[in-house]
Amino acid sequence: MTPLEKILTAQIKAQGPISVSDYMAICLFHPEHGYYSTRDPFGTTGDFITAPEVSQMFGELIGLTLAQTWIEQGKPARIALAELGPGRGTLMADILRTVKAVPAFAAACEIHLVEASQRLRKVQAQTLQNVTPTWHDHTEELPTDVPLYLVANEFFDALPIHQMIRDGDSWRERQVGIEGEALTFGLSAGAPLSVLAHRLEDTKDGDLVEFCPQAPTIMQSLAKRVDANGGAALIFDYGDWRSLGDTLQALRAHEKVAALYKPGESDLTAHVDFEVLVADLPCAHSRITPQGIFLERLGITDRAQALAKNLNGTDLKQHIAAHRRLTHPDEMGTIFKTFALFPSGTNPPAGYET
Ligand code: SAH
Repeated sequence: MTPLEKILTAQIKAQGPISVSDYMAICLFHPEHGYYSTRDPFGTTGDFITAPEVSQMFGELIGLTLAQTWIEQGKPARIALAELGPGRGTLMADILRTVKAVPAFAAACEIHLVEASQRLRKVQAQTLQNVTPTWHDHTEELPTDVPLYLVANEFFDALPIHQMIRDGDSWRERQVGIEGEALTFGLSAGAPLSVLAHRLEDTKDGDLVEFCPQAPTIMQSLAKRVDANGGAALIFDYGDWRSLGDTLQALRAHEKVAALYKPGESDLTAHVDFEVLVADLPCAHSRITPQGIFLERLGITDRAQALAKNLNGTDLKQHIAAHRRLTHPDEMGTIFKTFALFPSGTNPPAGYET
């Protein structure tokens, strides 16, 4: 049993089953034994690899789009350059290196990072030694008095989800309970749910639907800021317009494992419902775009060729594989999607269309 499994088992014995959402939150962010509190999960030696860890080109192109948007918005003298869930800080470091080419933009930036893991904050501080970021626990703490230029990659997929199973016109929640000494899934009693009223139209009895209450709240706080003060928010994640079925996934050493296996020792994520992210926003948003198409529009192939000129042997092979990984439909090109928030009545950032 992992230390967290002992804690969960004791809690469930004393207080009854917990929701999948509570299970996810405890597994990821328990202060002592949570996944993000105890380890650096990224890269080939970790449990999974993210786009900025695949290649510097990802952050470079995002940096250029942000700088271009800043120019189009009249070069405001003070801005917040922000990231949600910066991981190792690689994406922000790549953005900052790239925007040195636009010195007035670089000079205008105050860096803000929203990060729940104290451990990862230390890694980010190390990666971003040359700047002085301000860390926040919540998106709501981001500045409200300057334009906000923000990026979030694989942040929303780590937010806890509820899983609901349709039973007539009500929904039974999937819960984590105990059988013998082992964690097991069970179901709550049924209740009608107004948040899932729109899913009665495309589901039948027994279908499983997921929802993430934090996601729309976070999007509202970003959208309010972008509309009131200017800027843009670029969101990258995997998922679809609307998901159906169980997408809760546990990854350990690049392999899928069962969601209840060794709690706290594998990464837990769920697909993102983009429909929910863009619903009722008080600012403009672009179309949801496959990541591969977005990167191609911004010229990733030209950039890849330029970088390739200085490489050979294994380095060149890895670079070619990284380009393919970020853009190819069989890899991260299609399952990963992106969209941008931008002020009402203005044009979308480069790489996006309405
Ligand atoms: N963006 C990085 C890391 C993605 S992993 C990359 O692309 O490599 C998810 C990141 O979000 C981690 O840094 C994790 O600690 C952070 N995170 C997850 N949920 C969070 C929350 N509710 N509040 C703040 N940070 C969170």
